[in-house]
Amino acid sequence: MIVTYDGIVIARRDVGENSVFIDILTDEQGIIEASAHGANKLNSSIMSAAALFSYSTFSLSKSRLRYTVNSAKPKFSFHGLGTDIEKLSLASYFAQSVRYCTPSEQPQDSIVRFFAIALYEIMHGRSLFSVKSAFELRYSAELGFSPNLIACDNCGKYDCENGMYFLPEKAKLICADCLYVDNAVKLLPETLFAMRNVIFSPLDRCFKFNINAAAEKQLSEICENYFLNRTEKSFSTLDYFKTVFRQNFA
Ligand SMILES: [Zn+2]
Repeated sequence: MIVTYDGIVIARRDVGENSVFIDILTDEQGIIEASAHGANKLNSSIMSAAALFSYSTFSLSKSRLRYTVNSAKPKFSFHGLGTDIEKLSLASYFAQSVRYCTPSEQPQDSIVRFFAIALYEIMHGRSLFSVKSAFELRYSAELGFSPNLIACDNCGKYDCENGMYFLPEKAKLICADCLYVDNAVKLLPETLFAMRNVIFSPLDRCFKFNINAAAEKQLSEICENYFLNRTEKSFSTLDYFKTVFRQNFA
């Protein structure tokens, strides 16, 4: 049986000298593992489509649970990522995240588009840490863990002159006047604005917000902890991204 899917290569493993196994992220089937025979040969027609982060239309033959790449037509290239170690390491963290959180052979809602937008923002966005935060928070929401950022959970106020607090474990907001717990984070106004933008905007706008340095740092801590606590996972690629970033900006 021949099937055709648009997808992004999120992992690849060499098999022998010339062939590779690739993990393709698709909306229709989640993650598909496919073998790409001869993809490492210089004259191979599927060489670029089998590259990491290639976004292509794949024609696959399927027998039982095995997929083989017949042909592939590149749709968009993210190979600019490969020349920048910080960008590549952040993209690798995103890839490991979706690989861990996306089931195989199950339809997904707009995951390919979301992942493509995230890669595009890594390449062209203003700040890698903002892109990382937006990915972590929005992806948490896409996985069903959306925090309630509409208003204070107790009194319904959208904003409060004494401040708004985030309760990470309860995934909700509480205003200063209703605050009743200790483990609440007092949000900078810019942090709350950015979090609401990430959650409530359409996918292609959720990475787009302006933020000052102090709020970006707060946003980064909140979003990373929120994502890691919800997925209950540590990611080696996240540690690597932080190491690379520290080395280059120390
Ligand atoms: Zn309140």
